[in-house]
Amino acid sequence: MVFNYEIKKPWRLEVDFLDVGQGDSALIKLPNHQVILIDGGPDNLVLWRLGELLPFYQRRIDLIISSHYHDDHATGLAEVINRYKVREIIYQADSTSSPIFDTFLNLAQIQKIAILPLKNAVKVNFSTDCFLNLWPSASLGVSADPNNSILAKLNCGQKKFLFSGDNSLKVEKALLKSGIDLNADVFKASHHGSNSANSEAFLLAIKPQLVAISVGVSNKFGHPAAMVLERLKSLNIKIRRTDQGGTIKILGQ
Ligand SMILES: [Zn+2]
Repeated sequence: MVFNYEIKKPWRLEVDFLDVGQGDSALIKLPNHQVILIDGGPDNLVLWRLGELLPFYQRRIDLIISSHYHDDHATGLAEVINRYKVREIIYQADSTSSPIFDTFLNLAQIQKIAILPLKNAVKVNFSTDCFLNLWPSASLGVSADPNNSILAKLNCGQKKFLFSGDNSLKVEKALLKSGIDLNADVFKASHHGSNSANSEAFLLAIKPQLVAISVGVSNKFGHPAAMVLERLKSLNIKIRRTDQGGTIKILGQ
């Protein structure tokens, strides 16, 4: 008798922009079963979302990328490393932090998770055709700002995804000047669709087919900005929002 374990079949590439309320968290499932989490949202709701999307036997997360230390991106991460076996954490090396982020890093140290504070751009290879490029804002020469985030670009097979945390217009300008290839099929709107980012020039450089906006229902910040939504519509870019449709699931070929 031949018995094929499902675990041996390659997964289909999947990127989920998790419905975590007013915050950010994205789960990446690579064909070779590696799992990446970018940010952990504003509370422990991320655990429910991971439970919905990962098979019950999957208790490992290969890489956590913390785009920046703000609570709406980092609060859920401590419980994630309590519940999952996390291999590595990459965060933006920065002089600023928060009590919540410090607690998370202390916990990661106690658990002996590999921690990389990122100052320079890196490429992380997962397989021959799946890799991540990471650009911390320090590598772009922009002045310090609490919203500065790691820009992450995932290339996997034919699909490209761009994640920009809460980066502002200042960082977008630096990215445009840098000549970095920003082109992506899917772009996670910067700063929850705020008008302090997501400029027309930046969107034209990315040329996304779809923009995912991670945002809470009736949030007090007025995210996403009406002007940004208009801009996206005028550029014929499809919009999906976690406050309207819950978790946004994008599948590879
Ligand atoms: Zn944020």
